[in-house]
Amino acid sequence: MGVIANRIAAMGTENAFKIGDDVARAQARGVDVVRFTIGEPDFDSAPHINQVGIDNILAGNTHYTDPAGIKPLREATAAHVKKTRGLDVSADQVIILPGAKPAIGYAMMSYVNPGDEVIYPSPGFPIYESWVTYMGGTPVPLVLREENGFAFTVEELEALITKKTKLLMLCSPSNPTGGVLSREILEGVAEVVRSKAQPDLRVYSDEIYEHITFDGFEHFSIAQAPGMKERTIIASGHSKGFAMTGWRLGWSVLPNEEEAALWKQLNINTVSCVPPFIQEAAREAFENPKTAEVVLHMVSEFKKRRDYVVPALNDIPGITCNKPLGAFYVFPNVSGICAALAIHDYYDGLSAERRGKTSPATLFQRFLLYYHGVALVDRRSFGVLKSEGQHFLRLSYATDMDSIKEGVARIRKGASDHAGFEKFQDDNVALGV
Ligand code: PLP
Repeated sequence: MGVIANRIAAMGTENAFKIGDDVARAQARGVDVVRFTIGEPDFDSAPHINQVGIDNILAGNTHYTDPAGIKPLREATAAHVKKTRGLDVSADQVIILPGAKPAIGYAMMSYVNPGDEVIYPSPGFPIYESWVTYMGGTPVPLVLREENGFAFTVEELEALITKKTKLLMLCSPSNPTGGVLSREILEGVAEVVRSKAQPDLRVYSDEIYEHITFDGFEHFSIAQAPGMKERTIIASGHSKGFAMTGWRLGWSVLPNEEEAALWKQLNINTVSCVPPFIQEAAREAFENPKTAEVVLHMVSEFKKRRDYVVPALNDIPGITCNKPLGAFYVFPNVSGICAALAIHDYYDGLSAERRGKTSPATLFQRFLLYYHGVALVDRRSFGVLKSEGQHFLRLSYATDMDSIKEGVARIRKGASDHAGFEKFQDDNVALGV
């Protein structure tokens, strides 16, 4: 018997949040750090949205609300889903949550019994794998490949679907790759789900980056494919597209009102409700036409940065980097650098125990942070299972252009710093051991 319940041991984490400890440690050693780790827009929420929040607090709108969310916001969400996806959903299928993240846990709690299989993208948002193992489900990673633009093929998915598959997690545009799933792929996925999966399989469609796409790519939801609205949970929110991460405002559309009522019950059991003044500000974000201008400006800034960072990274010997069509991340392949700096050899010489907790890309990431002052996130932070042999880092370009230029210059320097990597091998703090 221990103090802590056993199930907690099976829970993972999101290193993009935890990496702050290492950044602080590097800074305490006197390293100036450029951060490419943050998964949030560097823009503030818009004044017209902020004002509604302030006015509501001052007017005393500070009490509990309907745990499902205030009806006007649920109606505005349904109208947004109709406008952007052409789908008719009722306000009673909508649940308002404190961010898009809680919906992941709610889906696992609602649909996954121990032993049920959950397919999820890998690399993918780490909270998927974390919740599958926490709930005693069987994790089934669907590996995304660089050569497919970090999408997957319908055949690759089909091979993973069994009678036990209960939940299929999709994410487009993707964290961490910025890759997108085209209408064509999603219609193929829908066809496979309809023809091969058990009728009780639910699709969880994480669309939190729906507003951030480039080069004319149009966001498409699998719920738009025939027969899919009835079995898909659309999860999104205001965090990324409206630069409202700290407001904690997410929404989900459930396949039907009964399942929405269940999620309302989960809200009652956990958070009770999202604060009313935040919900009113969220409604303003949906309904005020100024929001579209703000989003357009932010996305065009992200595009400029993407258009700088992708060629700049590809220009570094040992890196290949896809040009993503969404989100604000790039996911460069650093295997050439791992070979050039003999990181692979160093890794192969580690004990099995240490190898199990790290990877060549992780070692390069730590080396860049402690010896070259540039913080990125490693591939293993986006799903450990099936990550072996994949040598990638995630770079969030949600930061100013000067920092991007400086950070890329530091990566370039680190990529050929043989002497520095030798020193790093004896530096237990930097190694994290
Ligand atoms: N889903 C994905 C794919 C994300 O990248 C994130 C945030 O990084 C979330 C969900 C969580 O969003 P929120 O901050 O609204 O909880």
